[in-house]
Amino acid sequence: MLHQEFIHKLEDLLGKDRCTFSPEDMVAYSYDANPEKRAQPEGMVSPKNKEEVAEIMKLAYAYDVPVTPRGGGSGYTGGCVPVQGGIVMAMDRFNRILEIDRDNFIVIVEPGVVVQDLQAEVDRIGQMYPPDPASVAFATIGGNIAENAGGIRAAKYGVTKQYVMGLEVVLPTGEIVRTGSKCVKDVAGYNLTELFVGSEGTLGIITKAVLKVVPKPEARRTMTATFSTLEKAAEAVSAIYATGVRPATLEFLDRISLEAVEKAIAFGAKPEEGALLLIEVDGSDHALDAEVEKIQTACEQCGVITFRKAQSDEDREDLWKARRALSFALCEIATEWEDDDISVPIARIPAMIRKLDQIAERHHIIIANFGHYGDGNIHIGMTTGKNGGPFPMKAKQEVVAAVVELEGRIAAEHGIGCVKVENLHWNIDEPTMNLMRRFKTLLDPKGLLNPSKVMPKG
Ligand SMILES: Cc1cc2nc3c(=O)[nH]c(=O)nc-3n(C[C@H](O)[C@H](O)[C@H](O)COP(=O)(O)OP(=O)(O)OC[C@H]3O[C@@H](n4cnc5c(N)ncnc54)[C@H](O)[C@@H]3O)c2cc1C
Repeated sequence: MLHQEFIHKLEDLLGKDRCTFSPEDMVAYSYDANPEKRAQPEGMVSPKNKEEVAEIMKLAYAYDVPVTPRGGGSGYTGGCVPVQGGIVMAMDRFNRILEIDRDNFIVIVEPGVVVQDLQAEVDRIGQMYPPDPASVAFATIGGNIAENAGGIRAAKYGVTKQYVMGLEVVLPTGEIVRTGSKCVKDVAGYNLTELFVGSEGTLGIITKAVLKVVPKPEARRTMTATFSTLEKAAEAVSAIYATGVRPATLEFLDRISLEAVEKAIAFGAKPEEGALLLIEVDGSDHALDAEVEKIQTACEQCGVITFRKAQSDEDREDLWKARRALSFALCEIATEWEDDDISVPIARIPAMIRKLDQIAERHHIIIANFGHYGDGNIHIGMTTGKNGGPFPMKAKQEVVAAVVELEGRIAAEHGIGCVKVENLHWNIDEPTMNLMRRFKTLLDPKGLLNPSKVMPKG
């Protein structure tokens, strides 16, 4: 239970309108997009500047209160769920774009800015912020940095860490530090920026970010290609890369996903089609037709069944339909899914899918695979079906073992949060885990910032 004195000090600092301790209000801060993880905090604070964040952390340290930072609450791994109670720090008042440095392709933003708002703002001046998770409409820059979020353009543009040039961070003990700069070349000191990117709010609270943007591509072209098997699609991906073309987007759906979407929206899939690639290239308008031609030729050499090119924005929407309808389509197969987010070196995607097929067969379950082919990121949905029995958890462990065997990673873009903590040892050996623990203890000696996330107890 929170100490009354602690509550009064927070109320003095923030005013009663920017903190709440009423149990009814706590429900709104007890969850993220992971359906299984729920935990109510004992209080919520809503600071609006770094000094307030620092004061809150000092108070939390004085009264031994856990603090969990929260952005848009769209994480899939319970990262912002306050599993040890304490207070949630809502970052939604940090919602300003502070500077757009057009000539240097830099923006400086507060962490509560919604990703889509930043994208729209830089789009206006002919620039682009490339990280593009499907949650752009509600996820925040702070949450994206904390999770090192990916998205549909990562095949060409990479993930969030490639765009974070510098950070302002409040450490768990209340010191305010600044890392990085606006400079492309910067080796002045350790690269502390990357220590915080992907640290899931366990090492510090981001209060400002210096981000890189790029010139907005003049045009883009969208295509889909279907194949009889995922192996054939994989051959096509290798052939596409061999042409030197680098698609911005290279998404895939496997047979089960395709069948589900066809059943849900009848978009015209043929029974012999066992895999779909959704491909997008961007760049200067005059060069793109040649790129599309190269992609088409590569697909034809690998036995493409249907190759479709968007001729208009309307066509593009049409081609994206199957990918966008997927989550809803899978609900037609079953309402309960065990989801996973993993990555493997991209040439091993077919091998991973074969292993997943074997797991499905062994445990009499349905496994649907889709995701970002271009960066090796597979989203796996597993279910026993609508009337199936309880899900065999052993299947999940077998997925992890298969990932590791193929030199993959157990978390690709959705983080570890509190749901994958016990599996981290599959990817991180003990000496490395100890180093991570030492970093955590150095920055957060009492272990009060976002406790029970990322690392298992030593
Ligand atoms: C429909 C849907 C689609 C999605 N698509 C994608 C996708 O394509 N790619 C992808 O990578 N992810 C995707 N996600 C997952 C999610 O949107 C991302 O993980 C996102 O980065 C979370 O941002 P958020 O603002 O919602 O953070 P939250 O969920 O609120 O928090 C996530 C983590 O960040 C920490 N945090 C938040 N703000 C700060 C801060 N200022 N300082 C320090 N730590 C902080 C929290 O403590 C927590 O650990 C999707 C989620 C949904 C629901």
